[in-house]
Amino acid sequence: MRGSHHGRVVSRRRVLARTGAFAAAFAIGRHLARAADSVFTLGVASGEPSPDGFVIWTRLATNPLSADGMGGMSAPVSVMWEVATDDGMHKVVRSGSTEADGRWAHSVHVEVGGLKPNRPYWYRFTAAGEQSPVGRTRTAPAADASPDRLRFAFASCSNYQVGYFSAYRHIAEENPELVIFLGDYIYEYTYPNTAGDRVVRKHDGPTATDLVGYRNRYGLYRTDPDLQALHATAPCLMTWDDHEVENDYANEWSERMETTPQAFLRRRAAAYQAYYEHMPLRERSIPRVAAMRLYDRCRHGNLVTFSVLDGRQYRTKQPCEVPPWRRGHVAPDSCTERLDRQRTLLGADQEQWLLEGFKTSDAAWNILAQGQLVAQLRQKDRAGVPGHWTDGWDGYPAARQRILDATAASKLSNPVFIGGDIHSFWATDLKADFDDPSSATLATEFVGTSVTSDPPPYELIAQTLPENPHVKYFESRHRGYVSIDLLRDRMETRMQIISDRRDPKATVSTLKKFVVESGRPGPIPA
Ligand code: FE
Ligand code: CA
Repeated sequence: MRGSHHGRVVSRRRVLARTGAFAAAFAIGRHLARAADSVFTLGVASGEPSPDGFVIWTRLATNPLSADGMGGMSAPVSVMWEVATDDGMHKVVRSGSTEADGRWAHSVHVEVGGLKPNRPYWYRFTAAGEQSPVGRTRTAPAADASPDRLRFAFASCSNYQVGYFSAYRHIAEENPELVIFLGDYIYEYTYPNTAGDRVVRKHDGPTATDLVGYRNRYGLYRTDPDLQALHATAPCLMTWDDHEVENDYANEWSERMETTPQAFLRRRAAAYQAYYEHMPLRERSIPRVAAMRLYDRCRHGNLVTFSVLDGRQYRTKQPCEVPPWRRGHVAPDSCTERLDRQRTLLGADQEQWLLEGFKTSDAAWNILAQGQLVAQLRQKDRAGVPGHWTDGWDGYPAARQRILDATAASKLSNPVFIGGDIHSFWATDLKADFDDPSSATLATEFVGTSVTSDPPPYELIAQTLPENPHVKYFESRHRGYVSIDLLRDRMETRMQIISDRRDPKATVSTLKKFVVESGRPGPIPA
């Protein structure tokens, strides 16, 4: 089974990977068929791989949607964990025990260390006399290693109400070594009953605004079999966008101008706590008061450094709000607040941390994983007045320019931005001056479509493209994800689409391929 007689390391790794994925998927299938009072109803996950370890996660819940948000649990429960070098869990190399309690909704986060770099591991938990499904994960290459390639995928915007998570299932089947979630992993809002047949499966309750609401929303999403299969297949990196808390929030400001920062920060603290409880995050992310450190770097030898950014927690509020809303809108060019150089999307500390990292990076590729479209987009509001969308980077052009300028000033090797939020595929040239098409291309950008969420109207955006020549590709009519094979000399990008979000057995196909050549920023159709 383990394929240990295969000659080449790469092929052996692939075989191991495949058997592990299927073992994990079958284990989950078996598990879901078991008694409803199992404590492992929410699956397992791993994340934040380092050369010597990763985080493994689960949350105990006999009743994930219980009305008190406690998942049917009450007393503290002792949880044993094991990490093995084989999918049968015979060769256990690390193990230990921890306690899950109600303070963190019986979630379990174990930072495993002391492992060998760049190889797969399998893990499981035991609690209340039961074993969890087996998850597969892997360590990153050693810091000074020079790996030849990395396969990873990224996804965003999975609204449970409007479709099935087939995109997640198909990512798992591609066996990536890493999966990156770029935000809107849950949606806080619940459609009214009048939403009709666009709702294919209902949220657990009304719009989430408190800890019980957010916990149960994550509880519901984590019961999804495709989502469980993906998390059991590969480690992840993650950042959030707005819907993990509230549509278009900014820092301490709600999208509703009438909501005070004090009231909104209470809601944000509840949402952040539930996020931490349901994600494989390290100790440094444990929420403190209403704040939570999410941004960080993840290195894959000297092939690539991922900078995972938080674009919501520290930003300036959107400019030129239209009462009673502060949320995104197309602001006309007369909105000069938008251009204020003091405006920040990442906040001063995170921006400085990012730019310092540019100076010291020795990676061949530098991927900036964040929530939104980075490129400027000249568009028109509903009345036909030209302007810019205020909730994305176009609401923060000076901050965008500082970061793009810094990639050039520090001669950052192969900067590539990846993003989500806009529920459509994009490939763009990130220019030294977006208003001058002849200016240098400083970086490459790929944005992935939504896993399920509703797209923006295709025609409305397509008609703006002549005014946005740095946009090399746009498509909003499909749901899916993005897969990347990163090699030393080039990045191969596949935009993957599912056949139908309303079909739980949707198939997958490739919509479009791009290549980025090392040393030559910008996507090239392949
Ligand atoms: Fe979204
Ligand atoms: Ca969003």
